Amino acid sequence: MLELAKEQIAMDQVAADKAEALRLLADRLVADGLVAEGYLEGLQAREAQGSTFLGQGIAIPHGTPQTRDLVFATGVRLLQFPQGVDWGDGQIVYLAIGIAARSDEHLRLLQLLTRALGETDLAEALRRATSAEALLKLLQGAPQALALDAQLVGLAVAADDFDELAWRGARLLQRADCVDSGFAAVLQQAEPLPLGEGLWWLNSERQVRQPGLAFVTPQQPLRYRDQPLNGLFCLASLGAAHQALLERLCEVLIEGRGQMLYQATSSRTVLEVLGGEVPADWPSARVTLANPHGLHARPAKELAQLAKGFEGEIRLRLVDSAQPAVSVKSLSKLLSLGARRGQVLELIAEPAIAADALPVLLAAIEQGLGEEVEPLSATPEPAPEVSVPEVRLEAPIAGSRLQGVAASPGIVCGPAHVQAERKIDYPLRGESLQHERAQLSQALAVVISELQLLVQRSDKAIGEIFVTHQEMLADPALTDDVEQRLRQGESAAAAWMAVIEAAARQQESLNDTLLAERAADLRDIGRRVLAQLCGIEEHAAPQEPYVLVMAEVGPSDVARLDPSRVAGIVTAHGGATAHSAIVARALGIPAVVGLGEGVLLLEPGTPLLLDGQRGHLSVAPAEQDIQRALAERDKREQRLQAAWTHRLEPAVTRDGHAVEVFANIGESTGIAKVVDQGAEGVGLLRTELIFMAHPQAPDVATQEAEYRRVLDGLDGRPLVVRTLDVGGDKPLPYWPIATEENPFLGVRGVRLTLQRPQVMEDQLRALLLAADDRPLRIMFPMVGQVHEWREARAMVERLRKEIPVSDLQLGIMVEVPSAALLAPRLAREVDFFSIGTNDLTQYTLAIDRGHPSLSAQADGLHPAVLQLIDMTVRAAHAEGKWVGVCGELAADPQAVAVLLGLDVDELSVSARSIAEVKALVRETDQQQARALAREALLQDSAEAVRTLVENN
Ligand code: PEP
Ligand code: MG
Repeated sequence: MLELAKEQIAMDQVAADKAEALRLLADRLVADGLVAEGYLEGLQAREAQGSTFLGQGIAIPHGTPQTRDLVFATGVRLLQFPQGVDWGDGQIVYLAIGIAARSDEHLRLLQLLTRALGETDLAEALRRATSAEALLKLLQGAPQALALDAQLVGLAVAADDFDELAWRGARLLQRADCVDSGFAAVLQQAEPLPLGEGLWWLNSERQVRQPGLAFVTPQQPLRYRDQPLNGLFCLASLGAAHQALLERLCEVLIEGRGQMLYQATSSRTVLEVLGGEVPADWPSARVTLANPHGLHARPAKELAQLAKGFEGEIRLRLVDSAQPAVSVKSLSKLLSLGARRGQVLELIAEPAIAADALPVLLAAIEQGLGEEVEPLSATPEPAPEVSVPEVRLEAPIAGSRLQGVAASPGIVCGPAHVQAERKIDYPLRGESLQHERAQLSQALAVVISELQLLVQRSDKAIGEIFVTHQEMLADPALTDDVEQRLRQGESAAAAWMAVIEAAARQQESLNDTLLAERAADLRDIGRRVLAQLCGIEEHAAPQEPYVLVMAEVGPSDVARLDPSRVAGIVTAHGGATAHSAIVARALGIPAVVGLGEGVLLLEPGTPLLLDGQRGHLSVAPAEQDIQRALAERDKREQRLQAAWTHRLEPAVTRDGHAVEVFANIGESTGIAKVVDQGAEGVGLLRTELIFMAHPQAPDVATQEAEYRRVLDGLDGRPLVVRTLDVGGDKPLPYWPIATEENPFLGVRGVRLTLQRPQVMEDQLRALLLAADDRPLRIMFPMVGQVHEWREARAMVERLRKEIPVSDLQLGIMVEVPSAALLAPRLAREVDFFSIGTNDLTQYTLAIDRGHPSLSAQADGLHPAVLQLIDMTVRAAHAEGKWVGVCGELAADPQAVAVLLGLDVDELSVSARSIAEVKALVRETDQQQARALAREALLQDSAEAVRTLVENN
């Protein structure tokens, strides 16, 4: 990363000419260990190709691709030449910035410098500077311009009150890189200012990186301090950057045009009213930048020169960036974009010159602005130097049997219905405005009527989703934006997809689970319309129950799944704890996951036989195989029916050993049903799901009511509650948590709650208050260190003095290998362990449980995981403590006997699996299971353990 610091600056240097200046720079870079000897040749060669003079007395010498290997570390060194050095063509350099970089990191430097380059008399100031500090200040330049563009406008956002709306605004500013993650909290402390007409203003200078203004309006009418709350401006304030905007806003309000802001249905309207960065209706054109090192000084200079040949305003912006459009005639502004190869540029010109200027500039950019350019491929380019061997994918052949991960038990047979996203090509430019408009409205009409059919065919809950889709298609904000693009000459498909993608991204940027799902829905209907526009037929689902084949079944697909039509699920990616598997089990649909990309190439309608217990998928199987499998299915169904009959009885092995079978739950309602499904208690209450069901952190009283409802429903049966397990990849929408590069190894679970003791204390207080004399067990997630457990326990012990409870046990989840390895020590202090095999497997095998291709191998029956379970159980029993298993492994029919053999005392599974798990316990002989478990521990792999169990 290139940053400027005073230590890099050497003041008062003297060089007779450019060659000597380069030599001095190279010596400095070598002496500081940034480059090897010989880099000087690179600097010289680069100057020979073209001067690195940037303007304003600054040059930025750097090496060539041939000398990249001589770079040890990225960095810069700055030499001040107060007497000036002639850099050729009479250009005098007072500051030479030597760059050591392997690729195009110098673009970042150019971005840093561009503010300074906008100053008029910088060269003279650089010459006169007498200290490194002063020079650095000059380079940091004038105040930045206020960021305000479409990404900073959020219209009709879901918010229940002022605070939530302010949080949305802060999120937009954070996404636009204007502020740090703490800004939301800072903003909550600022004093809101009513502007009239229900518009409010909030601002803060703290945690601001660059000035920016966000504007958000609530979905439904809100009030705040007895006044309407129609819209909120959130300012990330830095210097006087917002002055001009504030003046414009005052004018708008004085003229009584405030409603134009809060009634706006598109961000464009807001920006137009505020005089933001979008020139209304100016023609524009897009082009993908192909220059290998992006828009660096040389090509940018070329572009600016060319633009200066046209009398009028021309701007340029990066399509996927929050930065406002800049003048193409300003070299420094162009450099400030930091445009890279592959990024899409949009040129916007004032109407009088657009027809002449845009084609010329577009062609010049396409031709490389004086540099040789390799054409861009349609797909993202693979990173250089990483060669990926080409794997030819083929559909599995008829008669083959594939082994995947057994995700949800059951045997089914049906035709394949493959739902794989196909790449759809479409033209970027349209034929004529009328033609493109007509095409789009025809496609929209077809999709809306298809949705109408789906509404009629579906039950209420699913039908509502399709009604929402219809509403999305009719949303004026979308259609306005599309119309703008059509007017600029885009094809209907290109305009439609660009608007859908922008809207989806905006939803996602709000970091709200529901809105993120809405983003998936938007993309889904976006594709439907695109398929219509391009005349691509989506394969209709077979009439008879079918086997759904997908890459992965995500949360938004769940709503569309109709269990009466989907007989089975097959996925290319995922493992037993992946979404698809959990969804399938919850819906009771047999599933095999992680079968590889080949299944996506199956011909629609191919007969498939799926065994969700063994993880087998047979492609176009022989008739006798189908018959055999179906006979086995019938036998299993009879067994399940028998199991259901006995679901309320205890689970006791053939040789008289009782095992408790509990339920995993995530909400406080429906406990009566869980008990009726055979639960002898709740073995895992995932309280984060309760938190997620509230729009803001539930207070003590709200939580107490939730926990009380569960305890009441359990009617004296034990409740094992897990304290909040969020953070990392599981953020709460209303809790700003810093993004982490490696969230599974970051601040999550108990690590997070110990950092926020008030949250933990509120939760514990609510639990103790709800307990009365009922059996309450509290456990802490993700404990990996003894002190974490002790700190958490101390908090409970302190509260317990205040709120006495009679039947309380404290324990930890064992889901980090270190907890299992420290089990002998921890067992002395805890009352129980509950093994979370989902995470324990992921951390033991170093496989992300949601990894698209690897998670299939994250199998909890791996002998390494079994060893850790064995250690945990032995340690606990030695101290007279009990052990439960609450991960997905506990419900795996092939795992039950092994877990019993490892002497686990309790199994906690989803309510749907309870009857079957109890029946499996009753079929087991504890002594035989122990022998089986010992043998399992000696195996090499999870597959070997499964084979062992199968043959047992
Ligand atoms: C586990 O990790 O096994 C577990 C039960 O916790 P969760 O799946 O909620 O992370
Ligand atoms: Mg876990």
